[in-house]
Amino acid sequence: MFGGENSVIVNKQQNAGVFQKNRATPRQPALTCMCPECGVVLVHGKWQWPTNLLLECERKECPACLRTRTKKPAGLLALSGEFVKNHRAELLMVAYKDIENRRLKSPLRRLIQFEQLGERVLFMSFTDNRSPLGVGKAIVKEFKGKLEIHHNRTKEYVRVNWRG
Ligand SMILES: [Zn+2]
Repeated sequence: MFGGENSVIVNKQQNAGVFQKNRATPRQPALTCMCPECGVVLVHGKWQWPTNLLLECERKECPACLRTRTKKPAGLLALSGEFVKNHRAELLMVAYKDIENRRLKSPLRRLIQFEQLGERVLFMSFTDNRSPLGVGKAIVKEFKGKLEIHHNRTKEYVRVNWRG
C-alpha cells in the first residue's frame, strides 16, 4: 500500500511543503497519519515521534496504543528471586532508564504495565517482543543474574525470566 506511483505523487507534494491526500484514490489508507492517543506519526510506513508539525493528517491508533488499550502485550519480563526483595528500587531504576531510552528511539517499544507479585516477583509487560530481552540484558549488565527466554511458536510473543 505504500509502493507504486501513488506514493511518488505524495512524496513530491510533501517535498513542496504541501501535504494532500491523493484524491484520485480516496479509499486507499492514508500515507501519513497520527495516533490520537500518543501523537506518534506514520510516515512512509514507519511509526516515529513527530519531528515537525503536521497540520493535516488522518487519525489512526498506533500498534503500541492498541496493545496497551486492549491489554495484549507482545512480551513479558519477569524478575524474581531474593535480589528483587532486597534491591527493588535499584532494579526498577535500571529497567526504567532502559525502557525510556528504548521508547525514545523506537516509539512502538513501550512498557504497558508493571506489576508486583509478593516481595520477590516483578512483572513488566511490553508493546513489543524485543524490549523484554533488551531490558533483561540491561539488568544482567548491572546486577548479573540469569536470563531465560521463551518464545511462542510464531515467535511473536516472548517471555523473558530473570533470576537474581
Ligand atoms: Zn499511539
